[in-house]
Order: sequence, then C-alpha cells, then structure tokens
Amino acid sequence: MNLAPLTVRAALAQSGLVPVDAQVLLAHALRVNRAWLIAHAADPLDGVGAAAFMALAQRRRDGEPVAYLTGTREFWGLALAVTPAVLIPRPETETLVELALARLPADRPIAVLDLGTGSGALALAISHERPQARVLATDSSPDALAVAEGNARRLGLANVEFLRSDWYAMVPVGPYDAIVSNPPYVSAGDPHLIDGDLRFEPAAALSPGGDGLGALRIIVGGARERIFPGGTLAVEHGHDQSEAVQALFAAAGFEAIAVARDLAGIPRVVAGRAP
Ligand code: GLN
Repeated sequence: MNLAPLTVRAALAQSGLVPVDAQVLLAHALRVNRAWLIAHAADPLDGVGAAAFMALAQRRRDGEPVAYLTGTREFWGLALAVTPAVLIPRPETETLVELALARLPADRPIAVLDLGTGSGALALAISHERPQARVLATDSSPDALAVAEGNARRLGLANVEFLRSDWYAMVPVGPYDAIVSNPPYVSAGDPHLIDGDLRFEPAAALSPGGDGLGALRIIVGGARERIFPGGTLAVEHGHDQSEAVQALFAAAGFEAIAVARDLAGIPRVVAGRAP
C-alpha cells in the first residue's frame, strides 16, 4: 500500500488537539515557527517530523502540559526553559511582576528576594527590568534551582543569584527593598490538583497542604524584619484567599495594603509597605 504523506494541514487537523496546541507541538517537532506552518500548510511532512509530532500529540492527548513537551514557556517576554521540576509560569503571575515593579525604584541599586523561584520567573523578570537590582532567588528544590540558573545564564542576566533554602531558613538577614513570592497556595483537598495540567506539576510547588495558606503565613510572618522601612512585600495567592492574605499583611504590620486582580478579574496579588 502506498500512503500519500500527510500534509502540514492534515497533520494539524488529525491530531485531535485544540489548534493552538497542535500548532505549537508541530512547530516544535519540525523545529520551525508557527508562521512557517501557515505558509507551508500544503507541504508534505517527512516521516521523521510526522512521527515526532504524532508522539507529542499522543502525550498531549494523555494530558501532559504543552510547556513540558516543548520544554519552554514565555513569561514577561522572556523565553524560560521549564521541566517537570518546576511550576509552569502562568500569565497571572505577571500581575505580581507589574505590581512589584511599580514599587521598585529604577534609579538606584536595590536588593530583592524571591522566595520559591521555581523556573526563576519572578526573579528573572525583575532582574531584567531592574538592571541595578541584586536579586536573590531561593528554592528548596535543587532541580528547580538548576532550571532557574540555566534560565539566568541563557538570558544573560548576571544580577541574580540562587540559593537553596526552605523559605527564609538559609537567607542572609538583609534587609531587602522588596520580597516577592508565588508560593504553593492550593489547599490540600482542591479537586484541581488531580485534574488537567496540574497533575503533572510538582506537588510541592502547588500546595503546602492544609488550607493552602501555610507557606504564605511563613513568608508574610518573616518579611517585616527583613524589609527596609518603606520597602515592599508582594505575594500571589489563590482565588479565594485575598481577604485572608490581607489579614496576614495587616497582622504583620504592613501598611498601604493593595490588591491586584489577574486578567480574569480575580484578586490574585497582595502587596504591602513595611512601616
Ligand atoms: N496558579 C496555580 C494554579 O492554581 C497555582 C500556583 C501556585 O500554587 N503558586 O493553577
């Protein structure tokens, strides 16, 4: 039997994936960009490219996140390498970057601490936008730190350092001009943990267990003594945790407490100023 080779268009249509996932994975398999796919929709696929795409499409149909299949995700305009050792950076975390940058002076050297950096998303976005800042990024996972360090190197960002630490345990006293964190905050019984892309992400990066606020309590509770007067603490939290996190900030003595919403309009970030 002599089968005609699959065209680009047919491969995308037959993949069983939503169009954007199909395009990203086929572009990855062929080592081209998505514009190339559109311009070459009628081209036949070579056997190697077709086989690579079919294998990726099967893994995606079985639930693996696209970012783990391609090994990359864009955050704040920066191409970050990601592996299953790190949480996949999310657009809502850019809300935290925006809020932190609005409070971080651009005209003088500052010290910034990112707790639980994962892929390095927050630390690298801030070090990219604030060349005069010295950013210290921590994680308890050596595998995550290796991913983050690789990202800093590839992006040529030399003003960020990495440290293995369980929250504040190994962190130099400071003080810091700002502390930022996107910690694990999903509560233990949340059904999202066993659904969709989250099943493939590191459990320790998603949930601290219990009511989901354990890591935020540690971070907010230890921040005050480590931040200069007038400095900033900004954290991401879950969709229903804004009131609780604002209360933690108030209890720790933070002032000018502000809430930022993500692109879906959900309160997602709390920031405060150290007195
Ligand atoms: N925003 C993620 C989610 O709910 C969780 C990230 C986190 O715990 N920091 O999918």
